[in-house]
Amino acid sequence: MGTQGKPFPQWTETVYLQDTLAVPPFFGRTFETFWGILMHEKVVIVTTGGTIAMKLDPAHGVVPAVSGEDLVASVPGLRAAATIEVREFSNIPSPHMTPRRMFELGRMVEEQLAREDVVGAVVTHGTDTLEESAYLLDLVHSGDKPICLTGAMRSAAEISPDGPVNLLCAVRTAASPEARGKGVLVVMNEEIHAAREVMKSHSANTETFVSPFWGPLGYVDPDRVVFRRAALGRQTLRPDDIVDDVHLIKLASGSDALLVDYLTERQVRGIVIEGFGRGNVPPAVLPGIRRAVAKGIPVVITTRTIAGRVLDVYGYEGGAKTVLEAGAILGGETSGPKARLKLMLALGMTSGREALAAFFDTP
Ligand code: ASP
Repeated sequence: MGTQGKPFPQWTETVYLQDTLAVPPFFGRTFETFWGILMHEKVVIVTTGGTIAMKLDPAHGVVPAVSGEDLVASVPGLRAAATIEVREFSNIPSPHMTPRRMFELGRMVEEQLAREDVVGAVVTHGTDTLEESAYLLDLVHSGDKPICLTGAMRSAAEISPDGPVNLLCAVRTAASPEARGKGVLVVMNEEIHAAREVMKSHSANTETFVSPFWGPLGYVDPDRVVFRRAALGRQTLRPDDIVDDVHLIKLASGSDALLVDYLTERQVRGIVIEGFGRGNVPPAVLPGIRRAVAKGIPVVITTRTIAGRVLDVYGYEGGAKTVLEAGAILGGETSGPKARLKLMLALGMTSGREALAAFFDTP
């Protein structure tokens, strides 16, 4: 299978065909899964790496070690929950993930979902940047088939690793008819979250993925996958390529224009600023925004709060109204890291300020 002319990754393929007559009793078997297995409806698991695929090396700490095949083989009941195929995209810790790799991952997953025999996809991923990959995949995903991202906070070497149950829950969600049309989902700790809303909130606890303000879409119980709501207003951006050279600056009290000016001098393609509250910035940042905009660099203002929209409410110097007047684009509800990904995709389609602003003019 090719990678559409791109240098990475080298995908490897493993196919597990189900012995449909020997389905043992297992966690979560339902009529739908039994029927799906009989019909050979498949869930493709795309592995990218992360703690879920790591083991303890006493000399070097926790490092990537487990192949996609090992991962699947380690989960009791997984092959009884759906007919599984495994594709290895990469085996990297997620801080090594890049937007370009995410974009390539999106292409690979879309190729798999285009197959008639595939009902959904699961992507295993390190948790550190999982919310970013989930969001980028959600933006480029156009069909109804579910894509579920999952990972682990505890490696296979630890007592009570969470990877196996997370993977099982993600496969069951991807195979469930209820997940169709709900876009990219993050399934962790038996909860289901929308890609656009979810974030990693704790550096170590297994209960780390939360959707601030909104809460999860649903949960995975032993007998069924339960959805209580759907995330509305999903957007789709499908450029031929992304623009990499887009950067995020997080502001703190007393920040000045130093970092914005540095990026402007470097003639980067886009700047996302994580400001305060409704999208306000310290007054000393404002001239930097004007200088970036004057050089034709799009500047998107977001908020460092974990929920809520930016809006041009405040008119004092540095208030979001003056940030807007300086030529910045209001980033809606989108977090700084996610707005950066959206700008990378949007710049692959247009460079006009108004057209870019239209992509962000949505809650
Ligand atoms: N550092 C790891 C990673 O993101 C953490 C994890 O997977 O949970 O790859």
